[in-house]
Amino acid sequence: MVRGPLPLHLGDVVRLKKPHPCGSDRWEIVRVGADLRLKCLGCGHLVLLPRSRVESRIREIYPASAPPGAPPLKPGRDLI
Ligand SMILES: [Zn+2]
Repeated sequence: MVRGPLPLHLGDVVRLKKPHPCGSDRWEIVRVGADLRLKCLGCGHLVLLPRSRVESRIREIYPASAPPGAPPLKPGRDLI
């Protein structure tokens, strides 16, 4: 399946397929570019990963611009 870039923005929270060793699977996007810098919401750990690698691991996106309580975006269902 070929899909375009996911709509990822500064401040968005993403849920990844594999949890961090600290137990949290939620990360905040703190820098956007060819590489994404993510901050673990469980322990505050920072990682820098190629965007393509992050996109392939995303299970849900919680856009920073979405109202509180809005359902997350799911790649493959809400996004092509
Ligand atoms: Zn962590």
